[in-house]
Amino acid sequence: MSMRLTVKDKNKLLLDEGKQLLNYGLVLRIYPSEEQETLINKTFGCSRFIYNKYLSDRKDCFSNTKTTLRVNNYKAEVMNPLKQKKGLEFLKEVDKFALEAALENVEDAYSRFFKHQTNFPRFKSKKHAKKSYTTKYTNDNIRVDLDKVVIRLPKLKEVLFALPKQNKTNNKILNIGKETTKITKAIISQKGTRYYVSLTIEEVIPLIKKLELNNIDNSKIIGLDMGLKDFLIASNGRDNFKTSNPKFLRNSEKKLIKLQKKLPKKIEGSKNYLKAKERLNLIHAQVANQRKDFMHKLSRKLINENQVIVVEDLNIKGMIKNHKLAKSISDAGWYKFVTFLKYKLEWQGKQLVKIDRFFASSKLCNHCGTKNIMLTLSDREWTCSKCNQKHDRDINASLNIRSEGMRILGLV
Ligand SMILES: [Zn+2]
Repeated sequence: MSMRLTVKDKNKLLLDEGKQLLNYGLVLRIYPSEEQETLINKTFGCSRFIYNKYLSDRKDCFSNTKTTLRVNNYKAEVMNPLKQKKGLEFLKEVDKFALEAALENVEDAYSRFFKHQTNFPRFKSKKHAKKSYTTKYTNDNIRVDLDKVVIRLPKLKEVLFALPKQNKTNNKILNIGKETTKITKAIISQKGTRYYVSLTIEEVIPLIKKLELNNIDNSKIIGLDMGLKDFLIASNGRDNFKTSNPKFLRNSEKKLIKLQKKLPKKIEGSKNYLKAKERLNLIHAQVANQRKDFMHKLSRKLINENQVIVVEDLNIKGMIKNHKLAKSISDAGWYKFVTFLKYKLEWQGKQLVKIDRFFASSKLCNHCGTKNIMLTLSDREWTCSKCNQKHDRDINASLNIRSEGMRILGLV
């Protein structure tokens, strides 16, 4: 049993005081000194080592004794003595929280696997694994000093960071010093030649008042369908609109897919390979940023204009199994977009409704409810055989998603 308090547990305790937690992240670019850089890289290696060791021991233990080697037992009985072993002293040089977090990552990987969300946990290879480690907040060991523009991290001490640009939506950095705010964990990572720290922040705020069902304005309930050509198709009840992926994003994604295809043709480890890989990483990061920016703006607009947003639930397992790059980029984008919608709606006491992904959103005529079983994927427009209503495939689907959401809420 893990002793970690979940957000749900903490919120239960805060409820009596009329308060709740607000969770968010903040990514800062950091500028480690040469010495710090060496230590960071050592920590990446040690975390990977511990992760692989625990995974391997846990697998062995299960196949030999049919019992599960739990994190807490492993930590006390294996990992800590391991640090004392000759030849493994390097484990003592690095942040001990990073090693503990590596163990917990194995545990999390197992639980995601048991929930059928991912494949069986795999070993991390030196070449391909993400360069990152996680550290946890204990006794003020992670602190941001805004005057000196440094962040204090375990073992690394003070690391310089770049102050993010201040604007209306990005004043999170200023909240860090407040008494109601706590950094719970930090992930230190390297992408190309750049280093980042991404902080998980918990803030105690007055309870957000939830919008009551009988106060919902029907014209502010919207259904969103994920498009193939368009990023999303929305119904706002009266008129409808489609939002395409912006052109710059489509272009850079095309570039990305092209580069990705070229990579296997180069000899692994060669100069050209490394160069191509570095370029690929850079474009990856750029595209990810552009996409995130686009999704933040779009979700903000939708949330300002609406009170309830209805979407189809995505099949995460299906997403992972899909190896077509273009499709998986768009699925991952949509998945992230829905998480943006969810937390932004919650912050305002508004609601996200997810409908069953097997709901026949495309095939039902939104006008009379007749199911068009003949509809194929290539039919972009169709006419209902019963009521003669003409439909745009995607707009009709988004209207059906909206209706289904209203039915779930008991509003129709
Ligand atoms: Zn009809």
